[in-house]
Amino acid sequence: MSKVHVKVDDTVYVLTGKDAGKTGKVLAVHPKTGRVIVEGVAVSTVHKRPRRAGEPGGIIHVEAAIDASNVMVVCDKCKRPSKLGKRFDNNGQKVRYCKACGETVSTVGLAKK
Ligand SMILES: [Zn+2]
Repeated sequence: MSKVHVKVDDTVYVLTGKDAGKTGKVLAVHPKTGRVIVEGVAVSTVHKRPRRAGEPGGIIHVEAAIDASNVMVVCDKCKRPSKLGKRFDNNGQKVRYCKACGETVSTVGLAKK
């Protein structure tokens, strides 16, 4: 089990850093380092030079990984940054639930399509 409490496609709220207060979608999770990449958060600007004619140069934005402990999952039911718990639903399936409103957030360990 990884210690990272967020998953790709989760919407998270940033607690600390220059982007504190922002929300964004999780683009990638690195369980080994406990870091996540969040859309629009910790963006650094990279000036890219066109290497050959016709190639577009200019400025591109790259999201840096931030520590997963700096974000909270935003509950898709009550729309608040929430602590999540885990429990089994009526079908015996392990699910994550929002400790604020008690609603199930999403399933754990299932391939999401
Ligand atoms: Zn909730």
